[in-house]
Amino acid sequence: MPIYIPKPIDEFFTAALQPFSYNLRRNIYIWLGIVWGLPIPLVTILIQAHFLEASGVEDPHLTAICSSLQWFFLAHPLLFGLLCGILGTIRNNKDIQLNIIIGKLEELSTLDPLTGLKNRRYFAHIFHDECARSLRRNESMTMLFLDLDHFKLINDSHGHHFGDLALQATSACLKKECRPYDTVVRWGGEEFVILLRATDENMALHFAERIRQAIQNGFTPALPFPLTISIGLTQYQVNDTLESLINRADKALYHAKQTGRNKVVPWSVLAGEE
Ligand code: GH3
Ligand code: MG
Ligand code: MG
Repeated sequence: MPIYIPKPIDEFFTAALQPFSYNLRRNIYIWLGIVWGLPIPLVTILIQAHFLEASGVEDPHLTAICSSLQWFFLAHPLLFGLLCGILGTIRNNKDIQLNIIIGKLEELSTLDPLTGLKNRRYFAHIFHDECARSLRRNESMTMLFLDLDHFKLINDSHGHHFGDLALQATSACLKKECRPYDTVVRWGGEEFVILLRATDENMALHFAERIRQAIQNGFTPALPFPLTISIGLTQYQVNDTLESLINRADKALYHAKQTGRNKVVPWSVLAGEE
């Protein structure tokens, strides 16, 4: 039968076996323990010396320090250092575990579980960095807003399961078409956003057209029905916020929907019409 060891005791002995517990350079808790333990021999030596002096002993302080009783007290700073060093290791281990959990939670909170793409929260998080980078390098950057056409109809006629499959296949297709440093996110429902680094509107237009055609041409055998996508796009301007950029891309997408779907509309075309 396995022996049950309570968790705190197990943690204590595990930490006691780790070299970090005795590392005077890295484990500051050892020094805290030593400093904490120092007053004990100092006070007891003074008290003992006081009594020795009262009973007429010569050089009472040296006598007190050398007495066997004081060995016990003199060991206290070392014992406290040892104990605190082990507690410091336990704390260090917990910090490491906590950081791993925080990392996992951060990853989960920015991931869309259905498609495996990053989500809108992630996009909001990296957007400012991407803008700063684009300005610093004097590179253009373009945002695509993509929306699957008549998706509700697909769900209604083929079932939610095939709707999910379509979303997964579309996500895989977008990821495949993008470069590793482009950002693809599932914005929500059947909508996606792509941020293309070092890409102006004209280049993005070709890229978007390639995606539109790939989806139209039946990019996966997993879907027994045709699927199309509409895309609005706009180039990043200095002083753009996430809202202003999304707003322009969304307007371009809306125009694509209004004028027949399954098409790519750049914002500049709309701006020229206004
Ligand atoms: P439009 O061409 O104008 O974009 O029409 P649409 O039908 O694609 O747009 P609408 O906004 O009317 O419908 C979107 C549908 O997407 C409705 C919703 O049930 C479906 N949807 C959203 N999220 C999911 C999902 O995770 N899985 C599935 N299967 N369907 C989803
Ligand atoms: Mg939509
Ligand atoms: Mg749609």
